[in-house]
Formats: sequence, structure tokens, C-alpha cells
Amino acid sequence: MSNVFSEQATRHDLQTQWEDRRKEAYLYKKLGNGKVQCHLCPRQCQIAENSVGFCKVRKNMGGKLYAQSYGKATHITVERVETEATFHYMPGAKILSLGNFGCNLDCDYCQNWVYSQLQYTPPSTIYEYSTQQVIDTAKSSGTPILSWTYNDPAVWFEFVIDTAIEARKAGLKNLFKSAFFLSPEAVSELCKVIDVFAISIKAMDPDYYKKFTKGWLEPVLAGTRSVFKAQIPFEISNLVVTGLTNNNENYNRVIDFFLKELSPDIGLHFTRFHPDYKYMQYPKTPVEDVMAARNLALERGLKYVYIGNTFQSQGLNTYCPSCKTLLIERYGINTYLKDTLSDKGVCNKCGFQTKVVGLELPYDRTPAVKLA
Ligand code: SF4
Repeated sequence: MSNVFSEQATRHDLQTQWEDRRKEAYLYKKLGNGKVQCHLCPRQCQIAENSVGFCKVRKNMGGKLYAQSYGKATHITVERVETEATFHYMPGAKILSLGNFGCNLDCDYCQNWVYSQLQYTPPSTIYEYSTQQVIDTAKSSGTPILSWTYNDPAVWFEFVIDTAIEARKAGLKNLFKSAFFLSPEAVSELCKVIDVFAISIKAMDPDYYKKFTKGWLEPVLAGTRSVFKAQIPFEISNLVVTGLTNNNENYNRVIDFFLKELSPDIGLHFTRFHPDYKYMQYPKTPVEDVMAARNLALERGLKYVYIGNTFQSQGLNTYCPSCKTLLIERYGINTYLKDTLSDKGVCNKCGFQTKVVGLELPYDRTPAVKLA
């Protein structure tokens, strides 16, 4: 794999090279006046010739919409599936995490802002990959799961779809971690090729979405309902931002969504924020806040509630919802599967069928660090 952009590449050079490697977008329509309308996300940008949409990576060229970032990655890293706030799908498995650039949101506290906001992305950090190269890399690094993650894989849609199809043929799984600000058509297409979703719901407040993410809430909830209806495994995380969402009103609204529209069996992760991007004035979320959120959710009947962005806590472990036996212990990103959990995800102590899946698959689950 090669870095297609030299350290000296200028923004002009970058644009020129992009135009050589573009791919026609899958979800758009021509408006008949040289303009196109993108149907990938709820913004439905109407884009004039030689202009880009809000996400800055989809461009109208000659009356056609192109995904300019097709096959271009910023990060490719071997991690663990737990990194993605995914605790119930092949726990402990290695993943090949792929990041891109651009985003269809602009969250004030974005923790990936260098890549999500294209104007800050150093061209020298962008690499070009083919679908086959991604699959070969996953195979050679022993990662059974491709994780489409980091900035927001939404804007990388065409490459995700193309690669995910081939990855499945090669025996790999696909994880899609996203803020899920997507059109119904995009969600429908993703549901055909993605094996597990990690969905980030920022808050349950429409005003909050408009003010702090520049998006809107309802499409995120609609997409989540669709995944639930399609019975594809997924878990949800809620970033608890100091001064914004570290309060019972937020926690209760998120919990209400689970109880009223999803299921108490879905994994929920309250994750800690750290100061970043435009939101530097508040400190990192105290562990006590995310633990309070977790306790509230457990009291109200959710079965699998976790905390995130912390190293060691009971809030990282999976317990049997029925007899409270420890089933999976976590320390940092290390996962220790206990013999209290069967390969079918059943608690060996009381016989309760948990929502942990994929343990019957052959994959390396050796933790990077052994417990003393
Ligand atoms: S994906 Fe980008 S171009 Fe398409 S509607 Fe969303 S912001 Fe606009």
C-alpha cells in the first residue's frame, strides 16, 4: 500500500489527484439543470457543478455526483472489537479499523476532528487502498472483522459497500460505527452488508442535535429503529459530555428510547468525553457521572449497560442479567472470557441465554495482556 500523496502535496494537488480516483455516487439524482441531489444523508444537498456537499467529499463534476474519497484511508489499525463500544459480538476479536475523512456532521466536541473536518486533514496522512488490499491486510493481520469507523464511515459509503460485499465472500465480518445520520435508502443498503452496527446517539434532544452537531435527531432514531427491525446485532453509545449531557434528564431520555422502542436487551454504553475541537472549556467527564448513568439504566431495567473511555471498572464487565455471575471481564481493551459463558452465549451457572453472539466462530480471542 502506498501513500498516494507526498508530504509536499498542496491542497490543489490533492484535489487534482482526487479527480483521478473518484467513483460515481450510488445514491443521488440529477436535477436537470446541471445540479445533482445527494440522497446519502438527511441533508439531501443540492450541489451545483464543481461544488461539494456539506461533507466536502462528494462533488458534482459534469452533472454527476462523485465520491472523491473512494478507497482513500487515513487510519488503518489493528484493534479489538471492544474499542468500538461493541461488547456482545465476537468479544475479544481483533478488528481492522479503517478511517476516512470528511463528515456529514460537525460536532463541537468531535474527537476525530482532524479527519472529520477536511480542512484540517494533512494530505500526507491519506493513503489509497483497493478493496482487495483491505481484505488481504485483514487476512494477513488475523483480523476477522473490518471496522468502518473513526470520522464517520457514512461519507465513505460506496467504498464501504463494495469492500463489505467482497469481505463477506472472503469470510470476514463488517462492523459499521457511525453517528447514523443517514437516509433511509442508505440504511437499507447497509443492512444488506453489515454484520454489526455501533450506533452513536448524541442525545435525545432535537435542539441539542441542531446546536451541537449541525444535524438533526429524528433520522438517527429512524435508522436505529430500522436496524432493530432488521434484527441485525447492534449496540448504542451515548457520549456523556460534561456540562451538556451529564444529567439525569439525558440519561432518562436515552433509557426511555430503549424501553419504549427498542429492547432492554440491547447493549448501552455511556462513554466519557474529553475536551477537544471547539469544546475545550469543560473537563473530561468524571467516571462518577457515567457510573451514575449506568446505575440508573440498570435500575430502570436495561440488562447490559457499560461505561466507556475508562480503563478499569466493573462498568466494563458483562454480568449475567439473571444471576449476576461475571461472564466477561474487561481491563482496558483486554477481554477475558470466563468459563461461566458457553460458546452459545448461555450463562453456565443459571442457563440464561444472553445476547452475546459469535463465540462459536473460530477466532483468536487471546487477550494482549494476561491477568496476573
Ligand atoms: S452525504 Fe454529504 S453531500 Fe450527501 S447529502 Fe450528506 S452532507 Fe450532503
